[in-house]
Amino acid sequence: MDDVAVHEYDVVVVGGGGAGLYCALEAGRKAKTAVLSKLYAIRSHTGAAQGGIGAALGNVEEDRPEWHAFDTVKGGDYLTDQKAALILADEAVKAVYHLENIGLPFNRTPDGRIDQRRFGGHTRNFGEAPVKRSCYAADRTGHMILQTLFQQCVKQNVTFFDEFYLLDVLIDGNRCGGLAALELATGKVHVFRARAILLATGGFGRMFRVTSNAHANTGDGPAVLLRRGLALEDMEFFQFHPTGMRGLGILITEAVRGEGGILKNRLGERFMEKYAPTLLDLAPRDLISRAMLTEMRQGRGMKGDGSADDFLLLDATVLGPQTIAAKIPEIAEFCRTYLAIDPAVEPIPVQPTAHYAMGGIPTDETGRVLGDEKGRVVEGLYAAGECACVSVHGANRLGTNSLVDLVVFGRRAGQSIADYAARAGIPPVPPSVADRAVEMISRLRGAKPGPSPEGIRDRLQEVMMQKVGIYRNGREMEEAVREVANLRHEYREVGLRDAGTAFNTELVDILELGNLLDLAYITASCALNRRESRGAQAREDYPERDDPNWLRHSLARLRGDRVDIGSKPVDVSTWAPKPRKY
Ligand SMILES: Cc1cc2nc3c(=O)[nH]c(=O)nc-3n(C[C@H](O)[C@H](O)[C@H](O)COP(=O)(O)OP(=O)(O)OC[C@H]3O[C@@H](n4cnc5c(N)ncnc54)[C@H](O)[C@@H]3O)c2cc1C
Repeated sequence: MDDVAVHEYDVVVVGGGGAGLYCALEAGRKAKTAVLSKLYAIRSHTGAAQGGIGAALGNVEEDRPEWHAFDTVKGGDYLTDQKAALILADEAVKAVYHLENIGLPFNRTPDGRIDQRRFGGHTRNFGEAPVKRSCYAADRTGHMILQTLFQQCVKQNVTFFDEFYLLDVLIDGNRCGGLAALELATGKVHVFRARAILLATGGFGRMFRVTSNAHANTGDGPAVLLRRGLALEDMEFFQFHPTGMRGLGILITEAVRGEGGILKNRLGERFMEKYAPTLLDLAPRDLISRAMLTEMRQGRGMKGDGSADDFLLLDATVLGPQTIAAKIPEIAEFCRTYLAIDPAVEPIPVQPTAHYAMGGIPTDETGRVLGDEKGRVVEGLYAAGECACVSVHGANRLGTNSLVDLVVFGRRAGQSIADYAARAGIPPVPPSVADRAVEMISRLRGAKPGPSPEGIRDRLQEVMMQKVGIYRNGREMEEAVREVANLRHEYREVGLRDAGTAFNTELVDILELGNLLDLAYITASCALNRRESRGAQAREDYPERDDPNWLRHSLARLRGDRVDIGSKPVDVSTWAPKPRKY
């Protein structure tokens, strides 16, 4: 360990997105806190969030947290833990006002209150009609959240280790005592000893070919825990957002439909009338993505051939140029830049895009990582944000609820980690602590350049897109599991071509690919294992939801090439599951 730098903090947060920064802000009030991030914090993916953050403020029309909680549970197809949903909806109100108080420039109503708009699946009075619940800063809500939290963290003297890449967490028995990370500028391995650490490493949409996710969304935190023998929860549920830009996957926020935009097929029909007569284009994402695929498969896509690059239209011309400029200026800019169209004049060509991981690291409502089916807490280890599974989104997340999740559960985790750090010591760390991380890199450096990592990644993304996408069936998923298993084997032969130490992006790409492969393997295996349709998991061979057998969370562990899948119950203590109609 001679050439390994060692640091000591009370709390180390991995990830500088909305969840990590909110946690650091809270923890930093009481504990010496560091944030470690592979990107500069303000380049985190939270900055891409567009449409808004949901909270039942009731500023524009009557609304209640209880309605928000119910929508979240129903949106999640009853796989949502209901106590968590009630906390989310209740504390969202306080969290949004806190963000306002620390400087977030929300759009305003004419009388100066935070403005609100409609979003998919958010309703008044338990499903009666859409409600205006999304608080927003034009279509740059995530960017504003990130900037606001970052400024507050700097003010609070949180220390930032930018461009440090998490390699491993240090767990001895049931106690986490720190982590090992790679300093990208030098190639040096650092050990961070801490009373507690929190993972907030974001999503992993890069396992799919068409995705709204940034290149950095490779699920490093969950993958590291998998390799440490911990389980991941509900990994089969991956959300496809209905409106990605055709062929590119770049997101066109649901706010376009919240402001009045309409989805149309090649016959000019508003096809959502058939699939969700009450909520129409503001139905939840799983339902609309399936409706779009059905339209295309039945020959009503714009190309009419149902091929992978068939598409539909999102008509935003009805909004008019002024609303577009005031409420969705970024989207208009994206359309001009990437599609050379003006959305005030022409409809936008769209197709579903892989967007959000509902599953992830199992935690309780204070961010503590849970180690088994019985809820054993792993001492000193916390998680929050998209990499975590509280589980508040169940089988399908509602729009605007991720940003709420970050701030509500990021804040709670920050408070509980600081309390824990105040009473826990820093566990002793043996000299061999960084060995696994150092060995992993040495192996890659020592190996001959074998198969091309880019080739493996392309094949992974293609198989996940084709066989573990919106519609799934047993035969194709069996093939996907086999193909991903083969890719994992091939990956073991990959070696580095670039011998450099400073900013070796090839090394990072290879490490990230290893993480994606493990998570894809778990995702495909869990999807195959769950023999029902629920939320984002739509099985053609098991088209119905099956509560007697499958109203349970899955917990999957990786044992070499084997995936072990257990389960734990869902909290349905407030609302009994019902058929889901919109
Ligand atoms: C285009 C788009 C629009 C969206 N719009 C909305 C919206 O309007 N409303 C809403 O509620 N949700 C929205 N979402 C979802 C939401 O933005 C994300 O779920 C959320 O921002 C994730 O935040 P996070 O803090 O968990 O992770 P991120 O913001 O992704 O941050 C992850 C952090 O972890 C760090 N990290 C990752 N791996 C490592 C590693 N190995 N070592 C060190 N650091 C690491 C990264 O550097 C980064 O700082 C949108 C998503 C997309 C893609």
